[in-house]
Amino acid sequence: MKIAIIGAGISGLTAGRALANAGHEVVVFEKSSGYGGRLSTRYAGDDNKQKLDHGVTFFTAESPEFKQLVSELSSKGILSTWEGKFAHRDKDGKVDFREPETPYYIAKDGMNTIGKFLGRNLDIRLNEKVGGLTHIGENRRKKKSWMLNFPTALTESADAVIISAPARQAYALLNTTIDEIETLKMVREIDEVEYESQFTFLTGFKEKDGDMPEWNALECEDDIIEWISNESTKRDSEIKNLVVHTTSEFAKKHLYSDREKVEELILDRLTSILGGWVALSDWRQLHFWRYSRAINPLPHDFMEIKGNDTPLALVGGYMNGNTVESAYLSGLKLGKHWVEQLSDKTK
Ligand SMILES: Cc1cc2nc3c(=O)[nH]c(=O)nc-3n(C[C@H](O)[C@H](O)[C@H](O)COP(=O)(O)OP(=O)(O)OC[C@H]3O[C@@H](n4cnc5c(N)ncnc54)[C@H](O)[C@@H]3O)c2cc1C
Repeated sequence: MKIAIIGAGISGLTAGRALANAGHEVVVFEKSSGYGGRLSTRYAGDDNKQKLDHGVTFFTAESPEFKQLVSELSSKGILSTWEGKFAHRDKDGKVDFREPETPYYIAKDGMNTIGKFLGRNLDIRLNEKVGGLTHIGENRRKKKSWMLNFPTALTESADAVIISAPARQAYALLNTTIDEIETLKMVREIDEVEYESQFTFLTGFKEKDGDMPEWNALECEDDIIEWISNESTKRDSEIKNLVVHTTSEFAKKHLYSDREKVEELILDRLTSILGGWVALSDWRQLHFWRYSRAINPLPHDFMEIKGNDTPLALVGGYMNGNTVESAYLSGLKLGKHWVEQLSDKTK
């Protein structure tokens, strides 16, 4: 069967890997220029060679299935544990150190190496944003199928579709298939999913060895800054880099604010937390995450239209959680389920 997957995040790539291994023809369409979705790495700095994880900083693993992936990636040298100190700053500015209860996993060459590994044997079309879906029903002359529509007016057909985008983006895509009763049920359910948003501020220092904090990360009880990651502790780099995530409240309040003003507000607060030296950085960048983590995930492993010759399913981090692990498990469970369900249709 030809299966189209919308989105090259960990959930889509995991489902794709299982289905391709079972002999299906899998094509992944990704709107951005890289693999991994929110497991992403920004190349920044004067030379554009500094790698900073501007989405997920680290993640943990609980389930045996996800631990198995962690161990596979660790054996390839992609993942390792983030060794060092983790600090917490309370609302009065008091800092203490906390031991992680479970290992924190990081990718020394950047979080996007995970997506590159999972997608290495898949047909992935980057910079291809799917704009809509049309169901080609049995009353037409063509065989039943899905047609993916692209903004360029090009189309691509598939026997089955997996949407692995965040719930709000999946909602927009599903809304284009309004003739499908089953699809409408899904649309109503995923319409309920709400997300945290975040501004991520990235900055680097060429000669700040003396000033750089001794911790790997600082969690803050603050109305603007939630988390500061000392990216230099993840990988060798002559330049020292910080990644700063804001609170969701701040991001939502300043969604439409001038970006220079947002940067200024973040930098002012960062300076009051870390000291005046942070204002002397050599470069800065700002990124906005509209959908960082689901606030009210759905209680499903995945969702699908059942009893249909042209299946459609939703997977993603918003199924049974809001983490990298929940995204992986969602993709894995749908992948295994479809391998079983669609085995007689394998070409
Ligand atoms: C700042 C931040 C911090 C986080 N911190 C943590 C953490 O500490 N621990 C943790 O476990 N998790 C964390 N998360 C959440 C975690 O990153 C996600 O739950 C997980 O990566 C989601 O994976 P996914 O495959 O479901 O979706 P995504 O990674 O979002 O992948 C979906 C892909 O679909 C693509 N796409 C969307 N629409 C279209 C379209 N129309 N056409 C083509 N492609 C499309 C997107 O570009 C994207 O690449 C964090 C996320 C962010 C942003």
